[in-house]
Parts: sequence; structure tokens; C-alpha cells
Amino acid sequence: MRLIIRGVFWFGLYLTLILFPLVAGVVFFGSQQAASPLVYLAIAVGYIALALMATELALVSRFGGVAGAFGLDSLLQFHRQIGIMSMAFAIAHPVLLLADRAYTIRYFIPSADTPWPVTTGPVAFLMATLVVGLSVYRRQLRISYGVWHVTHGLLSIALIGFAGAHVLGIGRFAALPVMRVLWIVYLLFFVGMFLRYRFFRPLSLLHRPWEIVENRAEHGQSHTLVLRPVGHEGFRFEPGQFAWIGFGRSPFAADQHPISFSSNGDIPSHDGTIAFTIKQLGDWSRDVVPHVEPGTRAWVDGPHGVFTIDREEGAGYCLIGGGVGITPLYAMLQALETRVDPRPVFMFHAANDYDDLTFREELAEMAERMPMLTLVTVLLNPPEGWDGETGFVTADMLSRYLPPTLYRRFQYFICGPGPLMDAMEKTLPAIGVPRDRVHTERFDMV
Ligand SMILES: Cc1cc2nc3c(=O)[nH]c(=O)nc-3n(C[C@H](O)[C@H](O)[C@H](O)COP(=O)(O)OP(=O)(O)OC[C@H]3O[C@@H](n4cnc5c(N)ncnc54)[C@H](O)[C@@H]3O)c2cc1C
Repeated sequence: MRLIIRGVFWFGLYLTLILFPLVAGVVFFGSQQAASPLVYLAIAVGYIALALMATELALVSRFGGVAGAFGLDSLLQFHRQIGIMSMAFAIAHPVLLLADRAYTIRYFIPSADTPWPVTTGPVAFLMATLVVGLSVYRRQLRISYGVWHVTHGLLSIALIGFAGAHVLGIGRFAALPVMRVLWIVYLLFFVGMFLRYRFFRPLSLLHRPWEIVENRAEHGQSHTLVLRPVGHEGFRFEPGQFAWIGFGRSPFAADQHPISFSSNGDIPSHDGTIAFTIKQLGDWSRDVVPHVEPGTRAWVDGPHGVFTIDREEGAGYCLIGGGVGITPLYAMLQALETRVDPRPVFMFHAANDYDDLTFREELAEMAERMPMLTLVTVLLNPPEGWDGETGFVTADMLSRYLPPTLYRRFQYFICGPGPLMDAMEKTLPAIGVPRDRVHTERFDMV
């Protein structure tokens, strides 16, 4: 219930931030700004586009309260969809102005004698096109995450700067003193968000360094890094949560990556160590992680995330993990074991090959120790003599293991490759599991 109230509060605040300039513009509008209805509409959609873009950073700046209410992956999805939607408003702005015969296409093509407030409009529009286009087509354009991330940040700042100059310089509603104050407050809000994200957040990590104490190879081309807190006690986390980690002398320079905890957050070991298990997938995970030496300084921003058994009550759990997606689920199982949780747990552990089964020995030993745990290992390409399940996790396979009278009241946690999660999001409701009991964590959400 508390989460719902928090969600309603933050969403209400968000809507207020988006719509307030419009309401204020209408309330304080004077006859000296009179214009045609089409121009009013154009100004309104322009305002909404700018307000949506200016608040985009707030959605992804790792605000504990907001992320806690919605989940970071939902916020990132929302950020992405709002970015695309704001583009639709931004396109509607010049289209409506053109539809009003008072404006011609000449206004939108900057030239030497175009007034600067007018020129900044098309420039902001170009920036917005680049920000949205590069984000939507990043993979097709084969732009690495790192390059995209830096470019996205710089272009977004430029976009807000040009769009803000356009609004303030053009006049109209913005000429009203109340609107000027309002836009300056919005720009300050954006700058504040940026400073919080880029400066204050790393600054807060500076006093909480970590150190690598072990780096061990795992099945499935993965490495487990064990970290210990240096000069502080570390933190507790809920099983299934994740943190941003980076290495290097300073958190300001560190290239940070979101990684789920693969250790037991419930009862941290006496020295506060935590562990992450990382699969070799790209530049950082392949070229940096396997070579990180014990003694290396690390920075951990967390815990984050709502993909955790601690927030979902159920008659039991069904965990479905593919590839390295096993990491948060392994943390959940460790917590359930230390809590001596009496409820049934079904773990479907899927991989392409036997060698890809990260934590296979640990899970098998756990199944021996935990009478409530049923471990089902599923291989796409099983080795000769394999007596486990083969192929993909299907409705039929789930039905063969899950208790028929109880499974609808379980909570389902799925983490793995996109196709596995897409399939489970369809399969589980199709066999009668309520949608709100199906929880997914997408590792490639950006
Ligand atoms: C909530 C969450 C938990 C995760 N947990 C694990 C885990 O336990 N083990 C594991 O191996 N992987 C995990 N990942 C994925 C991991 O973050 C990426 O595989 C890793 O960052 C890849 O970086 P790279 O430079 O090696 O590869 P790249 O080829 O550069 O990136 C591969 C993909 O990873 C994502 N990515 C890369 N860098 C970042 C970043 N800084 N921030 C956000 N996304 C990024 C992008 O979608 C990118 O397309 C998790 C991801 C998320 C979102």
C-alpha cells in the first residue's frame, strides 16, 4: 500500500511539473499576447515538449524514492517512451505554426538575418531528433553503450539549452514575468538534477570505497568478483537487487555498470563482503572484469531495484533463470535458505550448453540441503547421457512440475535472455498466473 501511495505521489508531482507552465500561462495570459487558436495550440505543445524533455533526467537520475516506487527498469522504459512522445509534441509545434498562415517555412530555415530566438528553435529540434534517433537506433547503428551514453548526455544538455533560449527569447507567454520565473525554476531544476547525477552522487561514493578481494572464474564465461567495504560497514540489500559498479581511483571517472548481487544480502558476512557475477558480453565485461586484480579499488552505487522476493508475498516462488540471469535468482535462493523459508520454491535453470550453467554445482548442493527447493535444469543442447529437461522452458514443462492447486498463488521471477522473458510473460498468464505475479529483470534495458 505504501508503495502505491508513493507511486501516486511521484506520478502526481510529475504531471504537475509537466502541466503547470500551461496552466500558469492560461491563468496569467493577458490580451497583449493575443494570437490565433492554432498559435496557442502550437505554443501549448511546444511547452509540453520542453517540460517533458526537461524532466527526462529526473526519471533516470537514480532517485531512491522514485526508483523504489516504480522500479528502475519501468522508469527507463517510461523515460524512453516519454522521449519519443516529447518528439511528437516537438514536431507538432512547427507543424501547427505552419498551419497558421501567419508563419511560412522561411521562419524555420535559419539565415543571417533570422533573429537568434527563432534560430534556436530549429537547432533544438535538430538536437531532439538526434537524441531520440540515436537512442532508438543505437543497436542498428552499432554504437557502443559507452559512446551513446556520453553523446546522449551532451546532446540532451545542448537540447535543453537551445529550447530554453528559444522559449525565453521568443516572448509570447514567456514574456510574462511569472512565466520567466517558472522557466528559470525549471532550468535550475534540470541543472540541479544534472549536478546531483554527475557530481553529488559520485561525491557521496567517494567516502565509501570498496576493494576487490577475489576474482574467480565461473561456468558460462563469467567471473565472480568479491568486494569488501574499506573504512565503512557496507550495506544490506534485498535478494534480487543490483548496484552500479565501477573500478578506478575515483568514482567520478569510473565507468559504471548495473550488476545484480550474486551473494546473500540477508545476512552479510561478518566483514560486509558482497559479490557480483559478470558474464563476458562486451568491452568492459570481457576486457576489464576478468583481469581485475585483488586490491583494486571499486565503487558501488546501490542497492537499487524492485526485482526482489522481499516485496512480493506469495504461497511459494517460481524462479526462471537463463544464462547469467541466474545471478539475482541465486541471491534469492541463498536468502530463502538462510531464512529457512518453509514455502515451496521451483527453480528452472536454463542454458544453451552444460558449460553455460553458471552456479550449477552450488544450486545442486542447495537442492540437497533445501527440502522445499525443486531444481529443474533445462538445456537446449544437452550432452550425451543428459537426464534433465531439454529444449526451452514451456507451459507444458512448467505444468509438469508446479503444484496444480497452488501455482497460481506463487510469485514468479524471471531473468534471462529477452526471448525467454518475452515467452514467459505470455506463457504464465496463459496458464492462469495473474500478471501482477510475474516479475522480470531485463539486463539489456538500455
Ligand atoms: C538491473 C541489471 C542487472 C544486471 N545484472 C547483471 C549481472 O548480474 N551479471 C551480468 O553479467 N550482467 C548484468 N547486467 C548486464 C550488464 O550491465 C551488462 O552486460 C554490462 O554492463 C555490459 O557492459 P559491456 O561494456 O561489457 O558490454 P556492452 O557491449 O558495452 O554492453 C552490452 C549491453 O549492456 C548494457 N549496458 C552496458 N553498459 C551499461 C551501463 N553502464 N549501464 C546500463 N546498461 C549498460 C547495454 O544494454 C548494452 O547494450 C545487468 C543489467 C541490468 C540493467
